[in-house]
Amino acid sequence: MTTKNRQYIDLHIHSNCSDGTFSPAELVEQAKAECLVTIAIADHDSVAGIPEAWSAGMERDIEVIPAVELSVQYKTWEDVHLLGYGINFTESRFCERLNGFREQRERRNIEILQMVNNKLADEMRTEIDLSEVLTFSRDAIGRPHIARALLERGYVDTVEEAFRRYLVPCNVPKYYWPIDDAICEIQRLGGVAVLAHPTTISDDRQELHLVIRELAAMGLDGIEAFNNLALPNDMEYLRRLAEELGLLVTGGSDFHGIGEGQKIGRGRGGMRFSANLLAPLRKLISQRNV
Ligand code: AMP
Ligand code: MN
Ligand code: MN
Ligand code: MN
Repeated sequence: MTTKNRQYIDLHIHSNCSDGTFSPAELVEQAKAECLVTIAIADHDSVAGIPEAWSAGMERDIEVIPAVELSVQYKTWEDVHLLGYGINFTESRFCERLNGFREQRERRNIEILQMVNNKLADEMRTEIDLSEVLTFSRDAIGRPHIARALLERGYVDTVEEAFRRYLVPCNVPKYYWPIDDAICEIQRLGGVAVLAHPTTISDDRQELHLVIRELAAMGLDGIEAFNNLALPNDMEYLRRLAEELGLLVTGGSDFHGIGEGQKIGRGRGGMRFSANLLAPLRKLISQRNV
């Protein structure tokens, strides 16, 4: 196959329905400019962006795979991220559960904002109103929206600085969905459950191997071997591990529209994600939907 014929995808993109800055339609536009053939909008605890991305994708001839990114827990590993692909995202029980998570997010972010405001008051700075934070999201609110408010006020120069100075010290624990339940839920919706950016679980290969092996035994379908947090040797390691455990492999940028070094359709060092990753994913989605 010549370079000209190669096709590229991005299976992990955030819209302004969670903590991305661009609307789903704008993301489809950007995907078109990058010549991507398939994308997945995988917002945190929200599927609200999918219909808009879908219709924009139809106009632009870009396939949009419905997706979601859930915050889950496995044993003592908290804030593990699980992607669900090909889900029946309008199913009512699932939508109710997501509603519950978003309500919890809102309560948590009010508490975090209160702590951030106490810190700002100590620094003789004007406090931030919740309404300012809410303007940044159409659906699921998160700490990055408080980061953006801090940025807009000129209190920090980057989102990373907002996390370092305010959001990490003022963090409030989140509720995490038990991973076995989340995997079952994704599969119940005809979807495929994929572990996002696996190296965030551990830098230690032995530990990572153990966790992924146990998750595979539990029913996990795949791992996001190609992502913008993994180094090239991590990606190769994850690809082999997937092969060993019979898991499928996906790739995505985790593009939020903000943050250093993020680009739609690109991983670390400008790497692209091959459309060859799609066949096993599509096959499993169609098997789940017979
Ligand atoms: P939340 O779900 O509200 O706890 O926010 C977590 C989100 O914040 C992640 O999905 C990332 O997008 C972002 N995030 C977490 N830590 C950092 C950091 N140190 N710098 C920039 N963004 C971060
Ligand atoms: Mn995020
Ligand atoms: Mn994530
Ligand atoms: Mn993500």
